[in-house]
Amino acid sequence: MTPTFDDILRRQDLDKEEIKLLLAAEGAQQERLLRRGLEVKLQHLDNCVHLRGLIEYGNVCEKNCLYCGLRRGNDRVERYCLSDEEVLSCARLAHELGYGSVALQSGERSDPAFIDKIEYLVREIKKINGGSLGITLSLGEQTEETYRRWFEAGAHRYLLRIESSTEELYYRIHPKNGRHDFHRRLACLETLMRLGYQTGTGVMVGLPGQSLDHLADDLLFFKRMDVAMVGLGPYIPHPDTPLYRLRDLVPPAGERMDLTLKMIAVLRMMMPEINMVAATANQTIDPQGREKAIAAGANVIMPNLTPGEYRESYFIYPDKACVKDRPDQCKSCLDIRLAAIGHKILYNAWGDSPAFTKKK
Ligand code: SAH
Ligand code: SF4
Repeated sequence: MTPTFDDILRRQDLDKEEIKLLLAAEGAQQERLLRRGLEVKLQHLDNCVHLRGLIEYGNVCEKNCLYCGLRRGNDRVERYCLSDEEVLSCARLAHELGYGSVALQSGERSDPAFIDKIEYLVREIKKINGGSLGITLSLGEQTEETYRRWFEAGAHRYLLRIESSTEELYYRIHPKNGRHDFHRRLACLETLMRLGYQTGTGVMVGLPGQSLDHLADDLLFFKRMDVAMVGLGPYIPHPDTPLYRLRDLVPPAGERMDLTLKMIAVLRMMMPEINMVAATANQTIDPQGREKAIAAGANVIMPNLTPGEYRESYFIYPDKACVKDRPDQCKSCLDIRLAAIGHKILYNAWGDSPAFTKKK
């Protein structure tokens, strides 16, 4: 007998056709899918949300990804890099606010001064309150030696989205040259995992030319790689980037939001114990976007700690949510928003992924 939609909803091992069927759900079926994502999360991870205080370290980037406002070729963005003191005071603030972890993110740089500086900053952040802050890095592709140095300095999680697990789509959104190499990105993920990082990856949802086939393959890729964390967010067209030309091929915001939520719910069914980020991009296309992502199965939020004057320069995509909020406002806003959907923030904890801890 062919399984019904509700039979499939009870499974964890899904094949590609089943995943596509779930991703195509609409109306009442979509609601049942999102409820299932929440149910599986509550069974495995409870109603706790972990915070990573986001420090956008700098927007200088050597790459030219066709979708991103920080790309090297965009001369309409004022470039900045935080001082050591600015980074460390963000980290101290994270500790004072009870955020258990910080995430240091920036455009991709591979110059020795950058590599040394990150190593130094990781060590200094580790000195705050006797090493109580967890550190996630999201600093792009680096050599094994660099990843190792940062790990030894005290970083223990790394986020590197594959952006699309389909090589052909990857090259539609990146220039095809030595700097943008699908296989190198894959190799970086493997290196990070081998070195012992809690490794996260992810994709953008709603890219021009992206189909349910691509998205189903992305979910199977996360499962095959057995990653500890995933960050999924809607693609947001940026007018100062080449991919903007294809904006007519991008589904409307409501559809991109729904598809992102369905991706989260299906992935939660497939990988019940991973950490999944409710990306800020969700909130950019829907004021309730982050809460909706949490209610569909995500369990991590990255509130922004970047000093106000730099936030608008970290212009990855337009209309980024919360650029004007102060960190203390952000904290109470999150407490209220999450309580409204029956969740609570777990303060003063690293919030490691049980999927990773058990594997270790
Ligand atoms: N340079 C690092 C980290 C900063 S970019 C890196 O590329 O890994 C962080 C993420 O922003 C990227 O992985 C990408 O998925 C996302 N991003 C970039 N441009 C975007 C856009 N226009 N819409 C939505 N997300 C975008
Ligand atoms: Fe640079 Fe990352 Fe943006 Fe690509 S996605 S241009 S690597 S900041």
